[in-house]
Amino acid sequence: MGQIGRRRGWLWAWWLCCLLCCGLVRAEPLVLDSVNAVHPRGAQVAVLEDASGTQTLAQVQAVGSGVHGGWQALQGESPSFGYSRSVYWLRVTLLNRHATQTAWQFGVQYPLLDEVDLFVVDGTGRVQQHHATGDRRPFGARPVAHPHFYVDVPLQNGTQATVYVRLRSEGSLQAPLVVTTPTTRLEQARLELGWAGLYGGALLAMLFYNLMLFVSLRDRSHLYYVGYLAVFGVAQLTLNGVAFQYLWPENPDWGNWALPVCMSAAGLLLSLFARDFLDLASHWATADRVMQGLQGLFVLILPVMWLGHYAQAVKLGTVLTMVAPVVLLGLTTVMLQRGHQQARYFLAAFGGLLIGLIAASLSMFDLVKPNWLTNHGLQIGSVLEFVLLSLALAHRLKLAQDAHVRLQAAHATELEARVLARTQDLDKALGELTEANGRLQELSQRDALTGLHNRQFLAERMPEIWGTAVRWKQALALLMIDIDHFKQVNDAHGHAAGDEALKAVAEVISRIMRRPGDHAVRYGGEEFLVVLPQTHAAGAAHMAERIREEVAALTVTHGGQLLTLTVSIGVACATPGPRTSMALMLQLADRLLYQAKAEGRNRCVLQPTALAQIRPPETESSAQT
Ligand code: GH3
Ligand code: MG
Ligand code: MG
Repeated sequence: MGQIGRRRGWLWAWWLCCLLCCGLVRAEPLVLDSVNAVHPRGAQVAVLEDASGTQTLAQVQAVGSGVHGGWQALQGESPSFGYSRSVYWLRVTLLNRHATQTAWQFGVQYPLLDEVDLFVVDGTGRVQQHHATGDRRPFGARPVAHPHFYVDVPLQNGTQATVYVRLRSEGSLQAPLVVTTPTTRLEQARLELGWAGLYGGALLAMLFYNLMLFVSLRDRSHLYYVGYLAVFGVAQLTLNGVAFQYLWPENPDWGNWALPVCMSAAGLLLSLFARDFLDLASHWATADRVMQGLQGLFVLILPVMWLGHYAQAVKLGTVLTMVAPVVLLGLTTVMLQRGHQQARYFLAAFGGLLIGLIAASLSMFDLVKPNWLTNHGLQIGSVLEFVLLSLALAHRLKLAQDAHVRLQAAHATELEARVLARTQDLDKALGELTEANGRLQELSQRDALTGLHNRQFLAERMPEIWGTAVRWKQALALLMIDIDHFKQVNDAHGHAAGDEALKAVAEVISRIMRRPGDHAVRYGGEEFLVVLPQTHAAGAAHMAERIREEVAALTVTHGGQLLTLTVSIGVACATPGPRTSMALMLQLADRLLYQAKAEGRNRCVLQPTALAQIRPPETESSAQT
């Protein structure tokens, strides 16, 4: 009897144990009766926190529910525990009530979890499958090749299985769960791929468009922006697990580094872009320093991670990623108020991005439960941002172009004015130069003492006068005038008196010659030549006689003494022909002058000889003697 009682006692204890292990633990099973994807929630999911992180499946299976430190029903829609060092266990029991469907899949839809251990325990309590996956383990370890963590759960109609999920992550601990069929999942994947393609296409289009702009414009802003887009794109691929699946499936270590590295690089490039685009250094030095500080913090993520504080690095990155758009938003608002037009698109761009970022980050920090906006906000916000920033760059180009056109117009006007002023200056200088040149030439052809022309004038002008006379067969007269006994004037009264006398005679000659075209030249010391174009012998003789008379009538006084002056004049007169020359005519005038001297001075001798008859001087002089 005592033995039976003891046995009964054991039986009761065993029952109690079973109740604790199974009965009390048993939460609501998830009934599968449709092929649509369902998300286990509330009492369908049991959660167990293992702060030590050392418990095994068998140990957690043995833990009771409800009690302190035991299994708890999930509060809310989806498991999300923020940043935690603990290991979390999830348990979902699936009961197949579908008539035909036997292939089911259980999934954890957050790709950044470090360790995800999936256990499938059948209705009898036997562990059928165990898969050690997570993004700290090679991609090949996953039973289903997908950025998320799926496991196949085959279930006959009416049977059930329990899925245990062991989660550990240095990043944000989120585990949205799903139960679906392979077909439904593929259909869902196709839809998601379409959206992802649209997003990636938008990003790539912006990237290549701005890259081309950079290549042609060499504007640094474009390069920063292209870099930012590229890094942002990689960050997105990392965030949704695609990068791990396709880019570095064998490199889980790098896969975990990729996110903070991308955050750091994206923040740095965005800050550089904003500083360069808004030209903060020259417009607002304080804001520029703030942005430099922000840049420094973004760079700081890397050493923090390097020193092994992965979770802190990701947290810092996430906080900075939220702070940066806030700072930029405030900054662009002020810039816009200050009248910087290019800040307008910036404002809109960061406004959009900020809403998306805040939505995404709030769920990362477990402040709100994941929903459609937190899942897709970042993509929508970032596409808005890409488009608006591209617009901002285009708008800045337009502003630059307008400024360029204005500057060019101003330059053209200024250049025109300067050319005009220069031309006027040049014209004036040229006029002055011509005038000075004329004066100089005039001076070079004048005799300093008498003011009459000199031999230089004769040499330069005579060929023209002669040529005109030949051309028109006009008469030409030359008067060769010489002051009589001038040496005696000098000798008796001095050279100053002689100069006075020379001036007085020159004045007489000038006064008598009235016709334009007549020229008086000081030919030698006290010899003068008068050239009279279009003048026949009678006119020439008349002129010579007047000169002679007026000189004789001169009353030149020097030192109280009266100087008496007379002149002798040789008058040569001819109509030049092709066989004659100026030199011959000058010789004739000279010879006639000497004839006047010889005949007693103070007289005019005229010989209106046809020039053709003038013989060479040697013959002439020999004839005279
Ligand atoms: P004739 O009647 O034969 O012409 O005798 P003349 O003394 O006038 O002639 P001559 O050729 O012997 O002398 C000319 C003089 O004229 C010599 C020179 O002293 C003088 N003479 C020449 N040029 C100047 C000058 O510029 N100023 C002065 N004061 N005298 C000059
Ligand atoms: Mg003389
Ligand atoms: Mg003389």
